[in-house]
Amino acid sequence: MNSLPDLENLLRKYFGFEGFLDHQKDIVHRIAAGENLCVVMPTGAGKSLCYQLPAMLNDSYTLVISPLIALMADQVAALQRRNIPAAFINSSISFAEQLHAVRETENGRIKLLYVAPERLQTDFFYDFLCRNKPATLVVDEAHCISEWGHDFRPSYRRIGTIAERAGIKHICAFTATATPDVCADIAVQLKSPEMQLVAAGFRRPNLTFKVQECKGGKDAKLSAIKKLLEKKTSGAVIIYAATRQAVDELSALPGIRGYHAGMSNDERKCAQEYFMTDPAPVLAATNAFGMGIDRPDVRMVIHYQLPGSLEAYYQEAGRAGRDGESAECILLFSYADRYIQNFLIEMNNPPPAVIRSVYRTVRGLLASSTAAELEISAAELQRHIPESASDGQISAALGILEKAGAIIRKSRQTGTGKLKFIQDVDSLRVLHQEEKTQRSRFIHRMTVRYGSALKDFLPVNIDSMAEMCQLSPEQIKRVITALNNDILLWESGFSGRAIELADNNMTEAPLDDKELNFRREYEEQRLNAVIHYATTSDCRQKELIGYFGEKPDNWQCNCCDNCAGHSPEALLASGISENDIRVALRGAELFNGRIGAVKLAQILAGSRSAGIIAGNYHRNVCFGALRKLKAAKVEELIRSLIASGLLERVERGGYPCIRLSASGKAKLYEG
Ligand SMILES: [Zn+2]
Repeated sequence: MNSLPDLENLLRKYFGFEGFLDHQKDIVHRIAAGENLCVVMPTGAGKSLCYQLPAMLNDSYTLVISPLIALMADQVAALQRRNIPAAFINSSISFAEQLHAVRETENGRIKLLYVAPERLQTDFFYDFLCRNKPATLVVDEAHCISEWGHDFRPSYRRIGTIAERAGIKHICAFTATATPDVCADIAVQLKSPEMQLVAAGFRRPNLTFKVQECKGGKDAKLSAIKKLLEKKTSGAVIIYAATRQAVDELSALPGIRGYHAGMSNDERKCAQEYFMTDPAPVLAATNAFGMGIDRPDVRMVIHYQLPGSLEAYYQEAGRAGRDGESAECILLFSYADRYIQNFLIEMNNPPPAVIRSVYRTVRGLLASSTAAELEISAAELQRHIPESASDGQISAALGILEKAGAIIRKSRQTGTGKLKFIQDVDSLRVLHQEEKTQRSRFIHRMTVRYGSALKDFLPVNIDSMAEMCQLSPEQIKRVITALNNDILLWESGFSGRAIELADNNMTEAPLDDKELNFRREYEEQRLNAVIHYATTSDCRQKELIGYFGEKPDNWQCNCCDNCAGHSPEALLASGISENDIRVALRGAELFNGRIGAVKLAQILAGSRSAGIIAGNYHRNVCFGALRKLKAAKVEELIRSLIASGLLERVERGGYPCIRLSASGKAKLYEG
């Protein structure tokens, strides 16, 4: 077996690094020793080196499966620059080039061979694989193998079977984003029960994570945003919002620009350019923004609404501070956000009965029409299915039916419609012959091309009109909107996806209720993890890295709001006196593990709630001892005392209670 010093020599020789990053060392060593690992490491933490380096030790080659065809050529070129013999096979190169890569590998001249997952399934490649077994099979972007991953690819599903048939034993999976559940599924799919999970590199000590509770809905959040932006000095700010509507609200504020998928290509390009080139841009965006955009000096990432999952949150917040300088990740939280996310879960997971009803309705509508395809919007379809909650739910049901193989949806039709001119066509042609403006060019060219046919409604297409006028489709749409009801009449056509039955004999939709319910529960669990992150009194970063399976041990970031906010200094700074702390500690000592944190706070604040009266707590000596503070403040104080270890949690009769800890006692009597 090779020792770590050998690996460090190779690291110097090929990569020019003096040593491994902490989290790389163990992984490289274990892969070199032949262990099957599922490695979860965030983007930018030096993931690929972890398999590229051990590949140099083997006599045979390492096969890397990657779906990122566009990046393959770059990765291979980077390896070749380091004198590491590498090649790739995917649909972007000719058959002759593919054959060449295969021959080079067969002749032992290649150390790393990258292929797209689809290649594996060809007989040609499978034969090659059996003749030339790789020393290691690396599955990159391995979350694509799991249906629970956010980017499931059916072609990834067969990797395990093919590896098993070809007799490949050493398999490692890599991904930047997967929870331990997804990793377990990856191991199952790759038929490698011995595969071990290693999550590493998630710590980002330069990032300060904060959660700011905003009571009072939208206005509270908007004013929180304004305050946060006031203190900003340099670098970029991204504000992530859950909906396009929220992005529009935010970009209405001065100094904030918007980005979402509903904007035209030109508008989006323009917003991206602003973000990349402005010295201090502030961009409000949906999660459509960010892929492939890498600005190192993002100083603040604000989440205006709850993200759908902690995977999404870590990825989006992680765009802050890529330059290693300190940056802030702030989540604005209100309990009402939970309802928005619940609504989204409800929408994306229609009850099986609704999905079945959608199928029957589509089938019935098609049977009563002569057309083979149904051109109907989700909103229209919903009118036939009163038990559904929204048209969004109908769209989701159609997606599920398509995935189940019950229906086929054609690609989206856009830009078709009917148009007629309501002013005299001949005089318009003469009037606009100089084509001085976009409108004028449109009118002139349309009248020349179609003449008097424009007196009646004429079916047209935005793209072909754009070509004829040498304008962009967006410009044509704007021109038509401007001229509508004045020079012309425009009726836009069906702009959705036509539906067809996959099998006319299928009377009921083939659904797996168990799986549908499981998916819903899974999404609910992910949301609960986000709520837990937002409400925890533990270190926020510790919470995040633990979610991804990295073992925090005793580590904490020491800079998040919880780490910083619970220090005695922070409590004193927030208007709580040393004496208030002692009063709270004495209260906890008195009840000695018989009541919970909320009750203790109510007693100290002097709350006359039903529970307090019923328990006769209003006659206790501590009752109202911290009356001068607001009830919420007392609750915050108790939470802080728990987080800083002066109070500790105990269980009594199944209920979580609190008592004075040893260090609390010391503080009360010695400090
Ligand atoms: Zn912390």
